[in-house]
Amino acid sequence: MNRFKYCLASVLFLFGAVVMAQEEADVKEEREPGHYNQSKFKQLYEEFSTPNTYRSASGAPGPDYYQQQADYVMDIHLDDKNAKISGEETITYHNNSPDDLEYLWVQLDQNVRAKDSKSPLRDGNGVNIAYTADNFAQTYISEPFDGGFNIESVTDDSGKPLSYTINQTMMRINIPQPLKSGEKISFSIKWWYNIPDHTVNRARSGYEYFPEDGNRAYVIAQFFPRMAVYSDVEGWQNHQFWGSGEFALPFGNYDVSITVPADHILDATGELQNRDEVFSKEMMKRYKQAKKSYDKPVLIVTQEEAEAAEKGFATDTKTWKFKATNVRDYAFATSRKFIWDMQAVKIGSKDVMAVSLYPKEGNPLWEEQSTKAVAQTLKTYSKHTFDYPYHKAISVHAKNQGMEYPMICWNYGRPNEDGTYSDRVKYGMISVIIHEVGHNFFPMIVNSDERQWGWMDEGLDTFMQYLAEQEFGKNNPDVIAPNEKYPSRRGEAAKIVPYMAGDQSYISPIMSNPENVYQLGPNAYGKPATALNILRETVMGEELFDHAFKTYAQRWMFKHPTPEDFFRTMEDASAVDLDWYWRGWFYTTDYVDIGVKGVKKYYVSNKPTKEMEKYMADRNLTEADLPPLVYLAEEDSEDFSPELKGKSPTETSQNLKEFMMDNMTEAERAQVKEPKYFYEITFDKPGGIPMPLIVEYTYADGTTENVTYPPEIWRKNDAEVKRVMATEKELVGIVVDPKLETADIDTTNNAWPKKEEKSDFDKFKENIKGDK
Ligand SMILES: [Zn+2]
Repeated sequence: MNRFKYCLASVLFLFGAVVMAQEEADVKEEREPGHYNQSKFKQLYEEFSTPNTYRSASGAPGPDYYQQQADYVMDIHLDDKNAKISGEETITYHNNSPDDLEYLWVQLDQNVRAKDSKSPLRDGNGVNIAYTADNFAQTYISEPFDGGFNIESVTDDSGKPLSYTINQTMMRINIPQPLKSGEKISFSIKWWYNIPDHTVNRARSGYEYFPEDGNRAYVIAQFFPRMAVYSDVEGWQNHQFWGSGEFALPFGNYDVSITVPADHILDATGELQNRDEVFSKEMMKRYKQAKKSYDKPVLIVTQEEAEAAEKGFATDTKTWKFKATNVRDYAFATSRKFIWDMQAVKIGSKDVMAVSLYPKEGNPLWEEQSTKAVAQTLKTYSKHTFDYPYHKAISVHAKNQGMEYPMICWNYGRPNEDGTYSDRVKYGMISVIIHEVGHNFFPMIVNSDERQWGWMDEGLDTFMQYLAEQEFGKNNPDVIAPNEKYPSRRGEAAKIVPYMAGDQSYISPIMSNPENVYQLGPNAYGKPATALNILRETVMGEELFDHAFKTYAQRWMFKHPTPEDFFRTMEDASAVDLDWYWRGWFYTTDYVDIGVKGVKKYYVSNKPTKEMEKYMADRNLTEADLPPLVYLAEEDSEDFSPELKGKSPTETSQNLKEFMMDNMTEAERAQVKEPKYFYEITFDKPGGIPMPLIVEYTYADGTTENVTYPPEIWRKNDAEVKRVMATEKELVGIVVDPKLETADIDTTNNAWPKKEEKSDFDKFKENIKGDK
């Protein structure tokens, strides 16, 4: 490369002198092409699919966007004594696609717990360092639990059997004639399975058994054969449920009856249709109070009542009836151990009920914090996306659980047996509630394909969780002191550094299938959440980000977005080209590392530098052939002479002085700044991700100046860039990313002079301190 040409161009530019067009052309031609690495700023045309009439280039649904609909009528029976569940369901499937469908695919997710499940056979890791006793017993000693679906019948709407083929967790219904575009079909499935103990095998659904009183608390999900998604992107979703990649589900309407022991307390997705039949008079009275209580929850079932119910073991049953409109899934929780509280939350012009269900083992923590956390989540998320459209959001306490469904979710956070609890348990519980209730927005309403893209719901939700946690902290002085911040586990830039700086062989790009990554937590939750947080706070700014994020949420509310729909919308709604950001943070495992490499000091001179002399000699030029030129002489070079020091530019450059006399009025000359110090600062970027170059300059008088150079500063040279500073004050210190907002993995190269050495800057700082 030719540094000289670069310098000449910039020196001439700096002083506004005219340079011959021919010389400019020379400068361009002589650049070595390989030096200018543009790959980070290349548009993502190769990674993105071509926009079409289903999905527009703007990131919005296209004019031909469609989605399928699956409606369910279900009759569910819980056999509490034998921990079995059975059901009969009629699915009405609407084919809104332009395609005729030759067969239908139904998901049988419980088959991941079948005796012959292939999931355990995928483990290729060898012997563990250690095993939990239950894990060891399960893996090597006990018979595998038999928790797969037993399909008793599949019939058409006239009751005639339909042929079907089960492939692990998927069932193909072989319909006699293709389901034509625009038509619908109804068919019924009868099924049952053994409910697992979720505390043993970490299932997302199951029961916890309480040996002290002999009761179970059930949190039931993925419990019925569910339609797979058919879309313009994947056709039929055909990725099996192996255990990590979650779910892809179409929207539909549900009409569900759930029969449980008569002394159970139950809540579920959907509006309760027969409250009069399942509520006592007292419960009804309290419910009416709760609907008007906006500041604190009202107990519908008290701890005393729940403890009395624990001893009952009713043999008769009660049927709870629900209807849910436009939901992508269905779940319920039931037990005679449940305490139940609720309060109203104003969301827009509507009232939403924030609800909690918990056994006494959750208290006193749960009665204090759960419903409050639900309410905060609905408020914060609604503000950043859309008004929460459902009528309630329920948080159910279930040991070790953190799992989400429409309107209802399972959450951990259990105090010690004596009711005491640590801060870790308390904040863990508040955070998981915010996270799981937050999943109502992503992916229950903004219905992304979790099976394919874990980050689209987990990452967006964890990002929003951080905002909600911080607001929860501000609004609850009893939990977080007024001058303190809520201790969010994820979100802040610095928190993702250990992961991004880690062993590359265990890191995958965010754009990976959740089944195929080693560290799913940081991969699908922490890193995308941090990437969005940095995007909001540092790259785009809150105003542009918030508008774009809201646009995405509203465009894809009750629809099925893909990653590109998100990426495109964020750019489309903000006029910020972010392809470089998606490329760096989402498509690679690169990290951020930007530093300050060196500083050179210059003084203004009228005398050609040695480099310039050579340039003129090479071309047989004399000074008379060129316009009047101004030079910067580096302090540590032959060009420097001591009399240049401490002078203003017009004192040491006759050419500049003449230029000003000839071209500026006296008034204009009086306004001119006369910088005495010129610095060329070299910033380097060992990390692969381009980021804004955030710099704090400190001057000898103790003042500081903060400058953020846009990320595009790296567009031509991805490794190193130089800035020239012209200043009236002496520069004594430079810090890159002073507030640690970019997730820079190595800050030892972030300061000039280097921090380790006892520098003039340190001494200077000490003096300042001493002065006070
Ligand atoms: Zn989650």
